[in-house]
Amino acid sequence: MPSHHPRLVIFSGAGLSAESGLATFRGASGLWEGVSIRTVCDITTWEDNFDAVHDFYDARRVSGAKAGPNLAHRTIAEWEKMWPGRVVILTQNIDRLLETAGCTGVIKLHGDIRLLRCFDCGHQWEIDGPRYDRQGCPGCASNRVKPGVVFFGEAAPRYDDLHHVVAGLREVDTVVVVGTSGTVLPADQLFGNSRAYSVLVNLEPSRQMNEGLFSERHYGPATQELPKLTPLLRERMR
Ligand code: NAD
Ligand code: ZN
Repeated sequence: MPSHHPRLVIFSGAGLSAESGLATFRGASGLWEGVSIRTVCDITTWEDNFDAVHDFYDARRVSGAKAGPNLAHRTIAEWEKMWPGRVVILTQNIDRLLETAGCTGVIKLHGDIRLLRCFDCGHQWEIDGPRYDRQGCPGCASNRVKPGVVFFGEAAPRYDDLHHVVAGLREVDTVVVVGTSGTVLPADQLFGNSRAYSVLVNLEPSRQMNEGLFSERHYGPATQELPKLTPLLRERMR
């Protein structure tokens, strides 16, 4: 890729998959599908809550199995095909709907709900079916097996990629932030404060972000708002 070509960076959150029927979660201290995030998403307590943790992610995989990508996922896949090698897709989502829509090279900042990870040896593998069979790690036989998603308090290895992308942003680049409240990662500081042209798409304003930092803000469902951005992107990606 000639380095002077404008690039497009997508940064997505749970709101991108909301219209596919997957629930978002509301705030770092909120509920996700009626369960406290602290019970099912905390590295300091997950072993005390072992069954609740696995029951929760099992249930997410069962309900997620019926979910398909929506027009917003497909629009992002279209953009990626329109500008080969010039689109970077970062997501906080742990589902696979961007991939199912045809996106390649998605940087999954918070892991993948279809993976399991051994806390002792680090072995990571794809789950067979929706439920963890509680048979332990196939590598070292440890029972300390957790979902392959990043919990609060746990290292997020792909944040290195996130910071690398942010550091490389230039004025010719465009960032589309979609479906994130900014509670877990501060999208306003990361992208609204960058050199790039930044576009925010959310259902409603979020009190967690200083949304005035973004170049443009669009409030509405992602399936309606993302396709409307294609003309702007065509101009900016020239
Ligand atoms: P969040 O739940 O904190 O915020 C969701 C945001 O999406 C809100 O700002 C809301 O206005 C917006 N939104 C809701 N419906 C929308 C729609 N139809 N169109 C456009 N925007 C819409 O989400 P977050 O900031 O991504 O943080 C949640 C964390 O939980 C993430 O770290 C993620 O790993 C995890 N999570 C993932 C999934 C998933 O993979 N589908 C689902 C829930 C939570
Ligand atoms: Zn192991």
